[in-house]
Amino acid sequence: MTDLTVRTGQHAEFVDITAQVQRAVTESGVKQGVCCVFVPHTTCGITINENADPDVTADIIAALERAVPWVAPQYRHNEGNSAAHVKASLMGNSVQVLVRDGQLRLGTWQVIYLCEFDGPRTRKVWVLVNG
Ligand code: ZN
Repeated sequence: MTDLTVRTGQHAEFVDITAQVQRAVTESGVKQGVCCVFVPHTTCGITINENADPDVTADIIAALERAVPWVAPQYRHNEGNSAAHVKASLMGNSVQVLVRDGQLRLGTWQVIYLCEFDGPRTRKVWVLVNG
């Protein structure tokens, strides 16, 4: 198991962590198996999506903000970050990627994103590779 540290710089942003996860896969020595990537937080999530066009993640962040606005009179949670909790649940807190020949098997346009919704913060990501 590998613990990664990811520093986010924006209130809401997607950070490509694929290279860090690949490093953990390489260090594990596993050539064929499954890599589980887990985020132990309640206001950030993890997802796999396109990195070729940065407008894609900008559009996802904007769509989530339209669906779950930061300020809404019906929120009850007194920390004031209910939207971040909802968005984190929408994204989910883990992804699994197949490993072949020691490499993450992602589609051509896919990368692994840590999805920050209440930053900037320092986030942990736990990676387990099973061969
Ligand atoms: Zn909260």
